[in-house]
Amino acid sequence: MENNNFMDIQDTIKWVMNSLNPDIEQRILSSKRLEICNICPHKIEWEHENMLQWRCEVCGCGNMIAKSHLKSKGVCPLDKWRDVENEML
Ligand code: SF4
Repeated sequence: MENNNFMDIQDTIKWVMNSLNPDIEQRILSSKRLEICNICPHKIEWEHENMLQWRCEVCGCGNMIAKSHLKSKGVCPLDKWRDVENEML
């Protein structure tokens, strides 16, 4: 169990680092993935301190912006990003 938590932390750090300085391909990849999230019924939105927040209710990730920049396939838990990933990765 501790190992999984450690991996989660490592993954989260990797996702955040990826999103801080994305190259042009990552920006396009992220934009296309987030278009899919925007029409997905599993995207949960709420407001916190006048800022719109959102997360994926399937994987529970609250940092989908960072996750959407990953140059890896199969990141969406329902594989809804497959066509975009096959086109770009
Ligand atoms: S990551 Fe996948 S399941 Fe989650 S909100 Fe986006 S499209 Fe929907």
